[in-house]
Amino acid sequence: MLNIVLFGPPGAGKGTQSAKLVEKYNLVHLSTGDIFRANIKGATELGMLAKSYMDKGQLVPDEVTIKMLQSEADKHPLSKGYIFDGFPRTHTQALALDHFLATKNTGITMMLALEVDEEELRSRLTERAKISGRPDDADPKIIQKRIEVYQEETMPVKEYYASQHKYKGVHGVGSVEDIFIALCNEISKEQ
Ligand code: AMP
Repeated sequence: MLNIVLFGPPGAGKGTQSAKLVEKYNLVHLSTGDIFRANIKGATELGMLAKSYMDKGQLVPDEVTIKMLQSEADKHPLSKGYIFDGFPRTHTQALALDHFLATKNTGITMMLALEVDEEELRSRLTERAKISGRPDDADPKIIQKRIEVYQEETMPVKEYYASQHKYKGVHGVGSVEDIFIALCNEISKEQ
């Protein structure tokens, strides 16, 4: 199996690159942000709970997020692999993911990270707000909070994979196609 964690701060281009990688490698795309937003749209109990955190730029609690991710992954038992987009975002989530994949006799192949500087992120998110309709993109204070949460809670996840020699960083500024090629080059080294 090819199991990729696509990592990067909000606005790094994870969604855009995931869509291309999923198509090329025939993987299942699991984006926790997308799943939460679908639940908000469907007005489910999970959606209401997630919204109360997302609107503030905070992380949804680990227990809820991990459970949701696992049940989504279990919907695709015949998958050739997964792209985890926006997950894991905490050390606890990373441990839970390893444990979960071990029960399926597989594991994370690599973490692909899109590296983008903060100034660029802020301007991308402000632009995205005009078309995404996402309340968490529309307010500069919430954008700031999401970047801080990323640095404080999510950056340790990078170390977790780096210590296993699974971290592969790619410069995330440039054309979508060039960045995609750089990601594919990293994947081909592992295959
Ligand atoms: P994203 O679409 O990945 O930018 O996620 C949007 C929001 O959903 C985040 O700011 C969090 O509030 C929530 N979220 C998404 N993924 C996770 C996760 N793995 N753990 C906790 N909260 C998450």
